[in-house]
Amino acid sequence: MNWMTVAWPMVTATCLTLALINLRIAMGDGRRAPHLFFSLGAIAVAAVSVFELTLMRTDDLVRYNVILRWAAVPISIMVASVTGFIWSFFGTGRRWLAITAVGLNALANLANLTFDVPAIRHAVALHQAETFGGVKFTVSSVVNGPWNIVEIISVILIAAFVFDASMKLWRQGERRRAVIVGGSVIFFFLLSRGQATLVEKGLVEMPYFVSFGFIAVIIAMGMELGNDVLRSTKLASDLHDSQGRMDLAGRAVSLGFWEWDIASGEIWANETARTLFGIPPSEPVSLTSFLATLHPDDRAGVAKAIEESVAGGFDYEKDYRVVMETGEVRWISAKGRIESANGGNPIRMRGVLLDITERRASESELHLVRGQLAHAGRVSMMGQLAAALAHELNQPLGAILRNAEAAELFLQSPTPDLEEVRAITRDILRDDKRAGGVIDRLKALLKRKDIESRPLSVKDLLEEVLALIRADAAARGVRLEVLVPPDLPEISGDRVHLQQVLINLIINGMDALSEIKRADRHVTIGARRECGDFVEISVTDTGPGISADKLQQVFDPFFTTKTDGMGMGLSISRTIIEAHGGRISAESGDGGTAFIFTLPVVQGALAG
Ligand code: ADP
Repeated sequence: MNWMTVAWPMVTATCLTLALINLRIAMGDGRRAPHLFFSLGAIAVAAVSVFELTLMRTDDLVRYNVILRWAAVPISIMVASVTGFIWSFFGTGRRWLAITAVGLNALANLANLTFDVPAIRHAVALHQAETFGGVKFTVSSVVNGPWNIVEIISVILIAAFVFDASMKLWRQGERRRAVIVGGSVIFFFLLSRGQATLVEKGLVEMPYFVSFGFIAVIIAMGMELGNDVLRSTKLASDLHDSQGRMDLAGRAVSLGFWEWDIASGEIWANETARTLFGIPPSEPVSLTSFLATLHPDDRAGVAKAIEESVAGGFDYEKDYRVVMETGEVRWISAKGRIESANGGNPIRMRGVLLDITERRASESELHLVRGQLAHAGRVSMMGQLAAALAHELNQPLGAILRNAEAAELFLQSPTPDLEEVRAITRDILRDDKRAGGVIDRLKALLKRKDIESRPLSVKDLLEEVLALIRADAAARGVRLEVLVPPDLPEISGDRVHLQQVLINLIINGMDALSEIKRADRHVTIGARRECGDFVEISVTDTGPGISADKLQQVFDPFFTTKTDGMGMGLSISRTIIEAHGGRISAESGDGGTAFIFTLPVVQGALAG
């Protein structure tokens, strides 16, 4: 036992250990090629080391040459593996250069094995030499064959390939790797080859150190590979962490994650997703077992959506029901995306699931509430109709009553004035017709039927209204004044409706004057041409006015400040004016209130 018989086997053992570790890594997922090349290279170096030791301990020339010949095999494999490693690990080398270099090297070594006269080199004489510690070893005198030059060229080409690949890697920013791996490969490659040449030429009396040179290369390569493994382990743990966080976030918002491997048919689902479907954690899930958990009515639709998504490569989106073992039905909203292989074949579908049971429930509740609201709306419309009728009929019915009472008085006299009674009856008939008209029109308006617009003269309209209201005004001591310019164009509107609006506004104005001293009780009705195709009509009183906060509310249905009021007059008036395409507003101050509304001028009407 001497240092040589310890050192060389140590190289062998180290290389084999590294080879095994990387072979194991290569069997897992991820980038396999660099680990495989590494393992192969390390095994080759281990073999070279065995050959070297055997050569040093052989003193028979024939045996020596046989071993020398066969040593070319692991050397050739080692050269090819290191080249393959650089090519796959760096990803920057020129392929043709690598193939040429490795090809030439293999060719030279093959020639050396095949031909009777060794093609690269053979030993012609052996002698014993002594090295440190007095250790004896065999040294040979070697003669180069014709293929030796090919082997040298191949080594130079390999160095050129590694140099070129390293420079490219350097330029890409991976400087450390380029220097450590690329640099050491070139350095030890040339060093080993150079040392072997010196030994062969008899210039130095040393054992072959090829395997020592290469173990340095193997260690440099192994360190960088190890860094990669460490990085990917860190990445995997980060990924695991972020998956955990995602799962946590998913759980917080009841979000399920799933992944369907289309080829194997297996479905992976996180805990939330499994809970949503009522599938135990250990039970495998397939498309069939997933579909089986769905509501029978939804199965075909979901299967079809998935099928279409796989066939077309587009996103999958579906809401469906899941029936739990307890019979409880849950609504799920699912979204998924197809992932395809390079060739475009769908390989996987990933997606998310959300429990939307509560949203669905509140949607149907909302639907119910909407229905109730619509019903309430109809009921309130009926209420408005009744209130409006009561309000609008008040005036004609009051007039009918007063006329009927007057007629009765006349008829009680021994000589009744039949002419007067006839006039009263005519008035009663007129008011009765008006009452009928009011009912019909109001009904139509509240049913949103179109109004019957006809060309109307504003002057005529106002005169008709005054005829109806004059007696009332006189009784209240209110002076009515009408200011209509002679050139006002005709407006388009519904006579009875517009009469109602004006009566409402004038009566409101008169109501507002009750507290004002008689001499100052004025209601003025004015009309003027508005810019554009509108006529503006205003009803202004000299009452106390409306406070600013109430001004906003006067048009609201049922808003009233009067003890016997219904709060419907202005609301109905606004509905009528807006149905005519006009607008109504109120302005108020200390000097009284003005209600102003607009009505459209008849198309093509000329002023006059
Ligand atoms: P009602 O006359 O039955 O109260 P309206 O809708 O016609 O219903 O009027 C609503 C409210 O608007 C009245 O109660 C009153 O407070 C106010 N209002 C309307 N017109 C005038 C006016 N000319 N001056 C002062 N207040 C008015």
